[in-house]
Amino acid sequence: MTLATPKGTQPLQVLLVDDNPIQLSLLRHLFQKHGHQTLEAQNGAEALLVLATEFPDVVVCDCVMPLLDGYQFCRLVKDDRATRHLPVLLLTAQGMGLARFWARTCGADRFLVKGRDLDHVVEVAVALAAQSTRPHTAHAVPRLAQENFGVLAIQQRLAEALEQRLIETALRDAVARLYTADHDTHRLLQGFIEILQELVLPGALLVAYLGDEGLWCHGVHGSSATAEDLTGLEQAAAEQSLFSVPLDCRWHPAAEGNERRRGLRDPILRVFPATTPGYPVVGYLAFVTERRAAEDHERLFEIAAEELGRLLSLEDSRLRLYHQAIRDPLTGLYNRKHILDMLGMELDQCGRFGQGLSIMLVDLDHFKAVNDRFGHPVGDQVLSVLAQRMVFGLRKVDQLGRIGGEEFLVYCPQTDMEGVRALAERLREQVIVDPIPGLPPNDRVSLSIGITTWEGPEDSADRMLSRADKALYRAKADGRNRVVG
Ligand code: GH3
Ligand code: MG
Ligand code: MG
Repeated sequence: MTLATPKGTQPLQVLLVDDNPIQLSLLRHLFQKHGHQTLEAQNGAEALLVLATEFPDVVVCDCVMPLLDGYQFCRLVKDDRATRHLPVLLLTAQGMGLARFWARTCGADRFLVKGRDLDHVVEVAVALAAQSTRPHTAHAVPRLAQENFGVLAIQQRLAEALEQRLIETALRDAVARLYTADHDTHRLLQGFIEILQELVLPGALLVAYLGDEGLWCHGVHGSSATAEDLTGLEQAAAEQSLFSVPLDCRWHPAAEGNERRRGLRDPILRVFPATTPGYPVVGYLAFVTERRAAEDHERLFEIAAEELGRLLSLEDSRLRLYHQAIRDPLTGLYNRKHILDMLGMELDQCGRFGQGLSIMLVDLDHFKAVNDRFGHPVGDQVLSVLAQRMVFGLRKVDQLGRIGGEEFLVYCPQTDMEGVRALAERLREQVIVDPIPGLPPNDRVSLSIGITTWEGPEDSADRMLSRADKALYRAKADGRNRVVG
């Protein structure tokens, strides 16, 4: 009995591939029962022959077959522009974990377990055919069919497909290995550029990454890339990027053999956003190279951009998390834990090299009154403004962190008591010079500062903090807005 196809579904042409005649007739029966037409082949090679002249909507294929098995067949189908969109459903034997792994990696659209899932085979095949984005234009003939079709041609094409897959896997692997426990952004991206540079040389390649710390843009250029090539590349990347900052790339010459020195033939310029699903674009990959290289390695560049997207999104998340872990969100200064960790490390250095170090404990005067008079949000704003002023009032080598509500710790490397006293006085004066946005023009928030200096290898961070705290207490008791130590 032949059932009509359900309303709205077109009868499909299904290519069935199996070396077992009983299995083949079972499949034929199932599909024909639902009104679909079937084509048949007994192994992958025969199936390829069928594809040279027929245009099925979906392939249902066994895995283990002589001559050309299901995985190899699938790989060849997916590797050929003419057939890549043809959905392939692989039927694997039950319990064969490795078989299912291969089915996944050879590009099959679905796999079902024989015996267990066969009831759904028609339903799944219909769904695959419906999802397929195959262009319903003229039948493009598979490459194999255009060649001297035979076992040798199949073997050669298969070897090429495997080789290509191996290169793609090696590229993904090489890029993924850059992400180690102790990498930093610079080395990560430099490593990426090194891996890719061989594909574009003697042209040029640049990578731009916009993170919290600003823009990172480096490039490598071969001996044949001219100054115009490089500026052209920067401009193209800047135009296509969504970054509102100039790219200003740092170029490094590639180490190349002299034999490569010649003009670029038919140069072509490409810009790829480095994207990964679910993450905004934070980087770009751009290159100028000879047209032939760009076309030959098209898929590799796509993979590289994909891997770069993955790498940059990981790096971006890592840096954001690190930033959050060490910074105080209100002021952007180091938080208590981080500034104390840094002080501890700095004191280790003092112990080892005998260099001096001094600290300041800074507390805002009568800050509670600011909150009481103007409200907590204004208090927050004042804290943030004063934190910025303190950053500007200190030297680059001095480090500042927020260790309590309105209490800050500064450490000043290689600075003695007189040095830190002068710095603290300057800080105290600078902070009260200008009016504070949000407060009446004549209102100022002053600082009381307790200072102390490292007293030698027996000294510790705890002892220094305790001395600075006592000095701060005296500064408050003596009338505030002063430095004591
Ligand atoms: P003193 O001169 O003795 O240091 O007086 P003070 O009012 O500054 O000191 P006190 O320790 O009595 O009060 C500190 C105030 O700082 C109380 C608290 O509401 C305020 N404060 C602490 N952290 C924050 C914050 O994150 N935001 C705001 N708006 N206020 C804060
Ligand atoms: Mg205070
Ligand atoms: Mg306080």
